[in-house]
Amino acid sequence: QKFKMGLAKTRDTFTSKVNDLIARYRKVDEEFFEELEEILLQADVGFETVMELMDELRFEVQRKNMNDTEGIYEIICEKLVEIYEKGEEGISELNLQPEGELTVILFVGVNGVGKTTTIGKLAHRLKNQGKKVMLAAGDTFRAGAIEQLQIWGERVGCEVIKQSEGSDPAAVIYDAINAAKKRGVDVLICDTAGRLQNKVNLMKELEKIHRVISREIPNAPHEVLLALDATTGQNALIQAQTFKEATNVTGIVLTKLDGTAKGGIVLAIRNKLNIPVKFVGLGEKIDDLQPFDPERYVYGLFA
Ligand code: GDP
Repeated sequence: QKFKMGLAKTRDTFTSKVNDLIARYRKVDEEFFEELEEILLQADVGFETVMELMDELRFEVQRKNMNDTEGIYEIICEKLVEIYEKGEEGISELNLQPEGELTVILFVGVNGVGKTTTIGKLAHRLKNQGKKVMLAAGDTFRAGAIEQLQIWGERVGCEVIKQSEGSDPAAVIYDAINAAKKRGVDVLICDTAGRLQNKVNLMKELEKIHRVISREIPNAPHEVLLALDATTGQNALIQAQTFKEATNVTGIVLTKLDGTAKGGIVLAIRNKLNIPVKFVGLGEKIDDLQPFDPERYVYGLFA
């Protein structure tokens, strides 16, 4: 239900357009495909994804010898899910370590995308699953970032390890790992600064953080989650590409999906970057974070 509500904006525009299209065209012909293509592009599904979908649709319509638009919905949904999943079905779960071992999650992303909020929401979610969670204030660059994380820590009820503004983020995270080990924490979530203006610095900083983490815990960080703002559309894709070059991103959290009519960006991200979307942000509140389920997403757009 939450998922459906969060997608309302996308559904309102996208779905009504598709409905209207199906009502106007009794027959599935080339003109129908062209209009559908346009609607999908406007929803930010992305050029390559749309082209792939159209090929699949044309093939399927021919194979099934479909003459009218009845049943086309079902095929569109099926194909969209297939394109998204690329053989990996269902929800892409967090890589959590077995009980008794510390999981380290690193968060990356530029300022303003909703990174801090997402860290808070994820901490809340994990806590509700019975995990002991700790936060590391590794964004020592942006003014106010540490306080903001502290506020979320209080809201969620978990400890925040911090130093003063301007200190070395790798040192903060080093401290946090040791504190987490001592206190039997299950999941440590580390914030980082999202400076995209200088890619070399960003890379260096993230490399150093990685080095420090993996020296303390082999195979960690267990997740590197990139927060992207769905309302920025194709810009989010460009950011993702840059972060992908700078570090080993293991999953994406797409924030503010509730704030855009262009929710098709999820499909574009998956198709272009081949990184799973692990969670989506569907609002500003503490429990407005949902695991991303491709099937529910696609069918949620049409239902
Ligand atoms: P950061 O600079 O990346 O840490 O961004 P913040 O966490 O401070 O979030 C920036 C703004 O986006 C805040 O006003 C948040 O309430 C808002 N925000 C974050 N996630 C979502 C979401 O999923 N939906 C909506 N509507 N707003 C969000």
